[in-house]
Amino acid sequence: MIFVEFQARLYEKLEDDIVRCLICERRCVLKPDQIGICKNYLNSSGKLIHLGYGVLSAIESRPIEIKPLFHYWPNSTALTFSGYGCNFYCPWCQNHHLSFSSLPEDSKRIPPESLVEHALKIGDEGLCASFNEPATLYDYLLDLFELGKRSNLYGVLVTNGYFTEKALEKLVEAGADGYSIDIKGCPSARSALTSIDHEKIFRNARHLIDLGAHVEMVYLMVTGYNDSDDCVRWILEKHLDYLGPDTPIHVNRYYPAHNWKKPSTPLRKLLMARDEARKLGINYVYVGNVGLTDLETTRCPKCGKILIERHGYRVTYYKLDGDKCPRCGQEIPIRGRYVSEKSLPII
Ligand code: SF4
Repeated sequence: MIFVEFQARLYEKLEDDIVRCLICERRCVLKPDQIGICKNYLNSSGKLIHLGYGVLSAIESRPIEIKPLFHYWPNSTALTFSGYGCNFYCPWCQNHHLSFSSLPEDSKRIPPESLVEHALKIGDEGLCASFNEPATLYDYLLDLFELGKRSNLYGVLVTNGYFTEKALEKLVEAGADGYSIDIKGCPSARSALTSIDHEKIFRNARHLIDLGAHVEMVYLMVTGYNDSDDCVRWILEKHLDYLGPDTPIHVNRYYPAHNWKKPSTPLRKLLMARDEARKLGINYVYVGNVGLTDLETTRCPKCGKILIERHGYRVTYYKLDGDKCPRCGQEIPIRGRYVSEKSLPII
């Protein structure tokens, strides 16, 4: 396959060959020869070009539970891949070697067909853009998920959720129906990501649900950034207001990384947030990155029966009657098929 310039699909032309990218809410306005904040889109003579199309930094098969997605194709695996760059630049980024990087000089492109073929060959059930922000791979994702859909591969994004609504509509249309969305902060969190409108992330998660996609939220509680009582309350209340009680939330422990050296989140604070979430009425609240399987167990919100247990990102117990609790008949939100026959080593 011969690769030429890949023109981006979502941008508008302004005067004097200036363009505005409409992929994410940064909405970069670029003069000729300028590159966007995420380092992947270039204004070339009044056209927006996707420089990072198919330029991948990693490709590997990963369990869906690691994303984390606990209510989506349980126990399946997804061929997971990443590009370079980001539109946020969180100072605590665990993957800063990818997110803070520019595209390599000798960029080799991997055609979408190759990724789909590889996923099918190794028996993955889906495709997943992860590790760095998928907005950097946007035009590639549209082609890849469209192709994957034809081979019955699901499409998933692990994202900060800062896309424009139009961009999300095109992703869902292409076949991406699973989203693990990071809610990074709140209006009172002032020490980082100050130009981000965090409420737009909830707006987008709602939009995705309305478009028929599956969403789980991830709240990485970063010491000294978004862990104040105010912030916890804001995040949980917005979650409930926008997404309702049945959208799962993962309250995850942060560990010091890159330029953020504050101590990791105390378990006590994570459990307080979990209890607060439950008190507010959120039905599926998980505490992650602490290695305690009990905190990652799905229980029926009505009768308390254990329905799904997980260990090391694999499902070790699964007891559902279709999509219902076998004891009390409560409907449990699960998207996709439980992949019972998959045996992988526990990580
Ligand atoms: S995708 Fe990149 S270039 Fe486009 S608006 Fe977002 S940060 Fe800017």
